[in-house]
Amino acid sequence: MPRPIRAVIHLENLRHNLARMKAAAPHARVWAVVKANAYGHGVAHAFDAFRGADGFALLDLDEAQRIRALGWRGPILLLEGAFEARDLELCSRLDLWHTVHCTEQVDWLAAHKTQVGHRVFLKLNSGMNRLGFMPDAFRAAWTRLNALTQVDEISLMTHFSDADGERGIAHQVAAFERATHDLAGARALCNSAATLRHANAPLAGEGHHGQLSADWVRAGIALYGSAPDCPQGSAQSWGLLPGMTLKSQLLAVQHLQPGDTVGYGSTFIAEHAMHIGVVACGYADGYPRHAPGHNAADTPVLVDGIRTRLVGRVSMDMLTVDLGPVIAQRGAIPAMGTEVVLWGRSSRGAVLCADEVALSAQTIAYELMCAVAQRVPVEVERADS
Ligand SMILES: *Cc1c(COP(=O)(O)O)cnc(C)c1O
Repeated sequence: MPRPIRAVIHLENLRHNLARMKAAAPHARVWAVVKANAYGHGVAHAFDAFRGADGFALLDLDEAQRIRALGWRGPILLLEGAFEARDLELCSRLDLWHTVHCTEQVDWLAAHKTQVGHRVFLKLNSGMNRLGFMPDAFRAAWTRLNALTQVDEISLMTHFSDADGERGIAHQVAAFERATHDLAGARALCNSAATLRHANAPLAGEGHHGQLSADWVRAGIALYGSAPDCPQGSAQSWGLLPGMTLKSQLLAVQHLQPGDTVGYGSTFIAEHAMHIGVVACGYADGYPRHAPGHNAADTPVLVDGIRTRLVGRVSMDMLTVDLGPVIAQRGAIPAMGTEVVLWGRSSRGAVLCADEVALSAQTIAYELMCAVAQRVPVEVERADS
């Protein structure tokens, strides 16, 4: 028998989340962001679930090739554009839309020989200071692109640094409007957080719908069932369902006496007699090693659908959990093989959102999902139960 750990991908929940994002931005076309192997869910599975999206957005050219190979004829957007001049050949061959965020990418396009008109998303650096033209250079880039025979259509995009947080987006929206108000072209501003929190905010600009979420949104994390603004918002409050369950089983049960310790570094000390369960999941499976399990702070886990907590340090292949709440509710010590859900949905229906685990481990659900290791077998659940 293989190790009992697995990642279950819930296609129906992914579909539900896409519908939820479409409802949040009814005037927008939706890019399903499937970079990083669809946030760890697998590009092919995500493609299966998100066929109803208007396009797929990603970074790696080989992921773009895989989506074309799966039969998708609609839009595919390279969110960072070409990495070198010859990437444009693939863009021409596969009809990939691509971001243009720097002068070099304009130069490559100008030198690119093609019969295929390219559709580009010209990116403004409105304050994030990662990618994009500074506002004073944006218009010149637009004018240059507009004069190229290689370019058929120019859309305008930017990316928010604080759509999920206190600072908000107003300063970046203002910078975007100042730089683009009289330029024609579809707009693409919102990530998941902006789509859920600010979709209806006004946006001034030439020939577009007038809402921040128009004309395109780029939905990532919310499609996978995590709240982009955790802990202010939650998956439940946004109506999102888990796209992935990471589950395993109990390998062993230990009966501790007061003063006994658990795991490397003896970070957990039993204050009273208690039962703990040993779970086949460790940091080599992608579970965060820094998730706390000591007497001052802990991390939620579902055992047999009942919420309990991590005890002791996470090791490479195993972690340990308090069985107290399970014994109290079921009236018996759980047997070897009992289901343990690290995040996602238990077969009894209880849900533990990856956001909660991430919060305990001082990270974000994005990182947890992307970190699920190669050695964890993936199972696809087609119909929701
Ligand atoms: C990853 C990414 C997104 C999606 O962000 P989420 O927070 O996951 O919704 C949107 N736009 C760009 C440019 C990205 O790189």
